[in-house]
Amino acid sequence: MTRRSCAARSVVWLKTRLAAELGRRQLHVQFSPDIRAVDRDHRGMAKFEVRAIDPGVVRELLQCDDAGNPPRLLTDEEGGSPLRCCLRPVEPGERVALVSYAPLRRWARETGAEPGPYDEVGPVFVHPGPCPGPEGGYPKWLSGGRRVFRAYSAAGTIVRGELFDAGSDLDPTAAEAALADLLDDPAVAVVHARALEFGCFTFEVRRAS
Ligand SMILES: [Zn+2]
Repeated sequence: MTRRSCAARSVVWLKTRLAAELGRRQLHVQFSPDIRAVDRDHRGMAKFEVRAIDPGVVRELLQCDDAGNPPRLLTDEEGGSPLRCCLRPVEPGERVALVSYAPLRRWARETGAEPGPYDEVGPVFVHPGPCPGPEGGYPKWLSGGRRVFRAYSAAGTIVRGELFDAGSDLDPTAAEAALADLLDDPAVAVVHARALEFGCFTFEVRRAS
């Protein structure tokens, strides 16, 4: 089988699965090749922390980002995108820096994991200057809408992904419960929240230490 036909078959498979599950508020999307059985009967509501990009890492990215490029400084006239340094939306007309960030690579440097081919680099907005940092907890303004929660093992491989849909509800309770459920699985070490349409990394979630 060629690589092209393999990719095409995967898309058809995913569309079929999504269509079959359309209407459910939470869609469990599996990623090949690390599909694992999960015992969902043992739930202790794991405590977790939502993490913005560390200020020290932001300073590094503003010198040279994780793709080896200097930051792209710009004024965002529309606003609304998430700032990954403080997890609040860009204000219209705000000055921001666009940098490439490798969230799994950065996490692996702390833990000693070797994600290898699972390492991904993507664009994120950060403040180019002083930033107050995040308020803590799940950002309420990100509570609504649809989001992908991608769960990684301690080795840095993808355990599974979950399409979370909170609708227009700005109460973070449902998102927090979904994250606690993911982290209740001992096979899950860290979770990345990603935008659905653009696929960009939004924030990291770890078990509370
Ligand atoms: Zn910020």
